[in-house]
Amino acid sequence: MKIRDILKEKPVTISCELFPPKKESDFDSVHSAAQKIAGLRPDFISITYGAGGGTSKNTVKIASMVQEECGVTSIAHLTCYSSTPEEVDRVIDDIKAHHIENILALRGDPPKDSSLPLPGHYSHASELVRQIRERGDFCIGGACYPEGHVDCANRELDLDHLKEKVDAGCDFLTTQMFFDNNILYRFLYRALSKGIDVPILAGIMPVINARQIQRSVQLSGTELPNRFCGIIDKFGSDPLAMKQAGIAYATEQIIDLIANGVHGIHLYTMNRPDIAGEIFHNLSYILGREGD
Ligand code: FAD
Repeated sequence: MKIRDILKEKPVTISCELFPPKKESDFDSVHSAAQKIAGLRPDFISITYGAGGGTSKNTVKIASMVQEECGVTSIAHLTCYSSTPEEVDRVIDDIKAHHIENILALRGDPPKDSSLPLPGHYSHASELVRQIRERGDFCIGGACYPEGHVDCANRELDLDHLKEKVDAGCDFLTTQMFFDNNILYRFLYRALSKGIDVPILAGIMPVINARQIQRSVQLSGTELPNRFCGIIDKFGSDPLAMKQAGIAYATEQIIDLIANGVHGIHLYTMNRPDIAGEIFHNLSYILGREGD
């Protein structure tokens, strides 16, 4: 099923993200995590794609398995920065051959010490969106950044680029993680005033590992509110307490988002069915899934 139709049908959706195995020896554990997360009946599951294209086969394999074995709609991420248009066409055709109707079109990041983009390669995700549109009948998602993308010093300009990407053919957008809902509300308002009127799914990261989050916020430029820093300071060195606090924080964020009219929540589950399961349980009445 196309995600744009799911988003039209349901008042509130909750989706999950998985990353594919980097090594073949990890395939079984990812397979098992995918089955358990699919068992929570999210509205769809997205499968990430290695920036260098190295995990592309496993992205399609896991996305196909989620649909065929578990009966949950999947979306395959696809990055283009390190690929040629011919390579990208081959992946699109593979996605199509596996009956996957949804693609999250991403630029990706250059590998370290790289001089990309090379001649003939891509500069921006909007080019990939156009290519996918021409290649098949897909529902296409794109990424967006409530705090601005790190490469773009000017947030207004970043929004202009986002508008260009949506106009190229995105059906919906998913945000990068954020920890202060007011940042999202301001972004939604600014996006709408630019004419960006496709559904925007709020990307929520349940933080269970203090060190890991500090590294990724440094790279992404995500702001950590004082309330959140206090939680990390207090519980960061106690894994079980940090997990409990991280799940509670993510749950509160989601409840506030839904209460304020946000229709789509995307959970960065980090292949952890236990964490996704607790959040789904905490939201069971809110999401009308009280039998779960
Ligand atoms: P773009 O939309 O191309 O934007 C990148 C930068 O280019 C921005 O600064 C933008 O302002 C600028 N820009 C865009 N158009 C123009 C233009 N015409 N002129 C000048 N500048 C322009 N990475 C992975 O490797 N694999 C994944 O699976 C993956 N999944 C992700 C999922 C989500 C929901 C998010 C938010 C990110 C994900 N990423 C993933 C990370 C993403 O690849 C990086 O953030 C990357 O740096 C930007 O990708 P993009 O598709 O947003 O790029």
